[in-house]
Amino acid sequence: MRTAFINANVITIDPKHPKAEAFLVDGDKFALVGSREEILAAAGDAQVVDLAGKTIVPGFNDSHLHLLNFAYSRTKINLYGTTSIAEIQEKSRAWLAERKPAPGTWVSAAGWNQYSFQEGRLLNRSDLDAISTDYPMIFTRVCEHTVAVNSKALELIGIDDSTPDPESGEIERDADGHATGILKETARYLAYAKVPDKSVADIKEMLLDAIDYVSKLGITSVQTDDFETFSSKNWHNVIQAYQELEKEGKLKVRVYEQCLLPQIDRFKEFLAAGYKTGVGTDMFKIGPLKLLTDGSIGPRTAYLAQPYSDDPGNRGISVFTQDELDELVGTAQANGMQVVCHGIGDAAMTMILNAYEKAQKEHPREDARNGIIHVQITTKEIMDRMLKDHIVAYGEPVCVGADMHCVEDRVGKERMKESYAYRTMNEMGLRVPLSSDCPVDSVNPIDSAYIAVNRKDLNGWPEGGWYPEERLTIDQVLKGFTLDSAYAQFQEDVKGSIEAGKYADFVVLSGDPTAIDPNDLRSIHAEGTYLGGQKVN
Ligand SMILES: [Zn+2]
Repeated sequence: MRTAFINANVITIDPKHPKAEAFLVDGDKFALVGSREEILAAAGDAQVVDLAGKTIVPGFNDSHLHLLNFAYSRTKINLYGTTSIAEIQEKSRAWLAERKPAPGTWVSAAGWNQYSFQEGRLLNRSDLDAISTDYPMIFTRVCEHTVAVNSKALELIGIDDSTPDPESGEIERDADGHATGILKETARYLAYAKVPDKSVADIKEMLLDAIDYVSKLGITSVQTDDFETFSSKNWHNVIQAYQELEKEGKLKVRVYEQCLLPQIDRFKEFLAAGYKTGVGTDMFKIGPLKLLTDGSIGPRTAYLAQPYSDDPGNRGISVFTQDELDELVGTAQANGMQVVCHGIGDAAMTMILNAYEKAQKEHPREDARNGIIHVQITTKEIMDRMLKDHIVAYGEPVCVGADMHCVEDRVGKERMKESYAYRTMNEMGLRVPLSSDCPVDSVNPIDSAYIAVNRKDLNGWPEGGWYPEERLTIDQVLKGFTLDSAYAQFQEDVKGSIEAGKYADFVVLSGDPTAIDPNDLRSIHAEGTYLGGQKVN
């Protein structure tokens, strides 16, 4: 099947031929890209589609998100942005009336934040009992470290006045010693452990919904961290779900799994099952080992070399010792696995770079493409070292949008000078694939583009842009969401630009992002998404 797409404003992301008017698709690949005349001359009996002057870019490739987590969150009551307990109760009653879950189903909600409540206090069991005493209910706070449960849930979990607090957790109690329904830190696992694990069929159903959602935004590839979405951490089910969707022809995005396996035993079990980077197809492929080495800036858990400016005794947390990290990274490198590490603080990134350097010495690989996700509190030394060691720098513009409200308090002006330096990294020659980290923030690449190009949050703050010298150009953003993301998965030769021989993954946009006032970028949306030459949305 051959189709000629003509009369378009094609932004190819191919540095040799950045612009074109038309292209020919043969099967699932681009066969020829060029002028209208060239394409029509080569088209023969191909079907002709007139794109009426629309702008075309390669399909977006989100280089780090949590697709299954996003999918799961869409099955919960959405409490993000609620401003009172009364509103939560009303919303939850309406949700139950509409969905009518089977008796005994655990009802989950996510996103509440007492600082946004008129009542100004945490949710408690009585608030939730007023919604239902029949269903067990677990309502997760926006930070995901605290949950509120109702009386039915406390009963099923088996918490009473005499239950001791678990290590590093708290079962909050009132003045009389009764559990309030608030479970903090590890205590929340007492509740999660009671929620039945999701089956492969459940996972497929959730994924289909989320995939349709992201596909409508022009996303054709995702690099996704899914293995710890459910407390069972059952990675077999996740892989099986994707593979069955692929077999059934229902996978509308290409998936590169960032394999979160931070325990060495689980990781070795995974390797022993025959998995490593690159195993799979161009629709579902095993990606890198994914590790989290520190926390984040908001709660002061990112791991810093010097204490927080607004908390002088605190340097944040390191998830691993250097030895533990070295063992995981070394095992990966020795077994054909790429590695990507979440690293936000400078001390965390130094540990990551040490581990990569050691692994490279002990198990040299020609082209390892190990990476750091977030890359926030950087120094010149860290960035130079990343360049020298060919480390991929995964940028998250939406995290910039969130952090800009607190990071200067956290680290002070001096450290800010070389931090969140996505423009600097681009210009040094580092590869900077872009991503959303969804569901933490918006999954829409156009929202990320707006933040990256303007250095403003989605409310347009601050007026002149935050550290505006680090604004990306729109060309850098488009490349970051296409060709650089393809590079991060060793696939820059098969996708990421509109070039003959590559997969015909592309998006029809309602406007030209390179020609619009950057402040108006969010007026642009995806009007059609093509995967392997097929219109999927
Ligand atoms: Zn993440």
